[in-house]
Amino acid sequence: MDGITEIDQYGATAAHLEVPTAPTSPLIDPFGRAITYVRVSVTDRCDFRCAYCMSEDMNFLPKRDLLTLEELDRLCTAFIRRGTRKLRITGGEPLVRRNIMSLFRGLSRHLHSAALDEVTVTTNGSQLSRYATELADYGVKRINVSLDTLDPAKFRQITRWGDFDKVMAGIDAAQRAGLAIKINTVALKDFNENEFERLLVWAHGRGMDITFIEVMPLGEIEGERADQYLPLSQVRARFMDRYTLIDSTYRTGGPARYVTVKETGGRLGFITPLTHNFCESCNRVRVTCTGTLYMCLGQEDAADLRAPLRASTSDDLLDAAITRAIARKPKGHDFIIDRAGRAPAVGRHMSVTGG
Ligand code: SAM
Ligand code: SF4
Repeated sequence: MDGITEIDQYGATAAHLEVPTAPTSPLIDPFGRAITYVRVSVTDRCDFRCAYCMSEDMNFLPKRDLLTLEELDRLCTAFIRRGTRKLRITGGEPLVRRNIMSLFRGLSRHLHSAALDEVTVTTNGSQLSRYATELADYGVKRINVSLDTLDPAKFRQITRWGDFDKVMAGIDAAQRAGLAIKINTVALKDFNENEFERLLVWAHGRGMDITFIEVMPLGEIEGERADQYLPLSQVRARFMDRYTLIDSTYRTGGPARYVTVKETGGRLGFITPLTHNFCESCNRVRVTCTGTLYMCLGQEDAADLRAPLRASTSDDLLDAAITRAIARKPKGHDFIIDRAGRAPAVGRHMSVTGG
């Protein structure tokens, strides 16, 4: 069955099923950056409660506030029409959203038409045993799996609710399905800093890239950010004591900078929002599961796309709202972690904006 017929199952109208060819009017921000990468959060819910990401008793959004899967498809298609080449589906945990495979199935038409280069997913891995094959069938080639430790007890401690064996089985299933995996590890002081080498050797031994991420000040959590923060410059220096790191030009369109580790032959990435300002080459925006467009992960300014989506079955209002929003994309973010100012730099959690 082709993608178009299948989307009909969740009620899209013909106008929204059009397959864009060349961008009608590309999205260029005031600093000349082309916006070609959209991260879409499909839910704020999650089956884990990672200590740096969520508080244990999170209040989630009422279902009616969420964009439907059809609305998410329309929104993605509107961005693709304006030159988006890469979509990353994230959350919350994207794979816990009910019927989420129908979104991937629908979006695969843009891969078939070559309007889109890539659909990727960021996941905690808990549902991969169930979905890896389907993801591959719908054209997903690469996924990011978040994993902060290889110790099952510590895994339970940091995720609060996560099941380590399930995630390992998910990674196995994804590799069997042919998906390339990048492991994302948040560097947490006094938690996993003694495990970085083990994680690197494990990931590279299985043919997976690994990227370390600095903890970002997003949302209120129990505990203090400054206690978790570990600058990646230190992590890199420690690796350099033991390994030969060769600068790499490899880029995935995201903010990670990569090196190749000579001894393992694998790729190692660093995402350093706090120690290195990567904003100058920013090509991306984020949309939340309620259709709020954030032009910058580190700023509060946002545009509501849900109202124009719901106001009309044509996409004219939506297109105009996207154009107005991109014209406000700021030059860079305002992250700082300091002990004196204890409030997070940005009030929303990562699980709202998506990672
Ligand atoms: N649930 C999925 C997962 O864990 O991969 C997707 C959403 S999660 C919010 C995306 C990524 O953000 C994960 O790699 C997670 O470790 C990271 N993350 C969450 N909160 C963070 C924070 N405060 N600072 C840095 N990274 C964070
Ligand atoms: Fe869930 Fe991902 Fe946040 Fe962990 S990092 S609580 S898995 S959304």
